[in-house]
Amino acid sequence: MIILSIGSNINASENITKALSLLSTKFTITTQSSFYKTEPVGYENQEWFLNMVVVIETDLDPHSLLETLQEIETELGRERTTQNGPRTCDLDILLYKSKIIKENNLTIPHPRLHERNFVLVPLAEIAPNIRHPVFQKSITQLQEECKDTKEVHKTL
Ligand code: ADP
Ligand code: MG
Repeated sequence: MIILSIGSNINASENITKALSLLSTKFTITTQSSFYKTEPVGYENQEWFLNMVVVIETDLDPHSLLETLQEIETELGRERTTQNGPRTCDLDILLYKSKIIKENNLTIPHPRLHERNFVLVPLAEIAPNIRHPVFQKSITQLQEECKDTKEVHKTL
């Protein structure tokens, strides 16, 4: 499975909806999680985020996929200012089948996947048994071991 995470905290529901529609023009979205309202991590004086994860099908290799995601982020008005700061749309590759990639501009599985409730909770909703190829643990196990205390609330 190829799994992406989507996050926004500027006009979040509008931007996530737009991101989903742009993604669906380029890929087949086979599964999508609920939307989660999540407490910001890192730079805390900002709006809460909306986060979700989606499973896609694509023939693009991981690097071309990252380029396409960055084009969509730009199209949604993403400006790269403060690290972990407000963003119209953040699109990350969480998992690409069982591939392991460690390069300067691309790390798969996503290097912070196992440390963040805002990723693990939606991921556990749609793929609790998928195995993390580096840690060789299921998402449920990673969630049990995660020390993150940030709040994540499923929205309707
Ligand atoms: P973050 O997502 O960590 O909040 P950015 O979206 O600004 O921050 O991403 C910074 C860089 O992370 C991107 O330019 C990209 O090259 C790199 N990156 C490394 N691994 C991944 C991945 N798995 N998915 C998305 N971006 C990644
Ligand atoms: Mg990102």
